[in-house]
Parts: sequence; C-alpha cells; structure tokens
Amino acid sequence: MAERTLRGARLGGQSFEDERGIEFAARQQVGYACPQGHKFEVPMSVEADIPANWECPRCGAVALNVDGILPEAKAEKPARTHWDMLLERRSIKELEDILTERLTLLRDGEIGPAHLHRASKSRKKKTTA
Ligand SMILES: [Zn+2]
Repeated sequence: MAERTLRGARLGGQSFEDERGIEFAARQQVGYACPQGHKFEVPMSVEADIPANWECPRCGAVALNVDGILPEAKAEKPARTHWDMLLERRSIKELEDILTERLTLLRDGEIGPAHLHRASKSRKKKTTA
C-alpha cells in the first residue's frame, strides 16, 4: 500500500526548480540605503518602475533609492483639489459675492442650522400657504 501512494512523485529524484528552457526576464539590482546606514539591493525587472523607497530588511525603516530616484518623480498631473475645481467655475470676485450673500442670509436666520432660524414674514407666509 505504502509503495503505491508514493508512486506519483519520486522523492528527491526530480527537481521542480529545473531552470533549463526557462527564459528569465532581464533583471537589475536596485540599491537602497536606509537612515541607519544599512545598504541592500533588490532584484527587479528592468521594465519595472523603480520605487523611490523600500523597507529596510534589517531595521524596517524606509530606505531611499541610492540612484537618487525621488518620490513622485514621474511627471504626473497634480491632483486637483475641490478648491481647484471651484476656481475653474467661479472667479474669486464671484465667490466673494456668493459668500457675502450667504453670510447675509445666515445672519438673518434664513439659512443654517434649524435652531438658529428666525421666523421671518416670508417664512410664515410659506408655511401657511
Ligand atoms: Zn536599516
């Protein structure tokens, strides 16, 4: 019985790490140095985007690429903030006018948190209508 169950794969006879016929992607050693002075290299594909940082395998600190690759070095579009998008639609002058208008309404108790609302004539008309 025991012999049969072992028939599938001969123990020690066959290596699954046979590299013949396998073409590896071109690799490069990328150097990093951590703030503690540890230097190490990481094998990477030559086609890989080289990260600016790598965690130091010895102390876990963030190590910097020794070739001076900087974070965010790629020419990417800077992220647009809500403010940027707002400025695409309104000028500062328009925004100031709107702010003034809204502040007036807020101070008059027309808008804002319900507990700050003041009963106004126009509001009373609306509720009775
Ligand atoms: Zn380190």
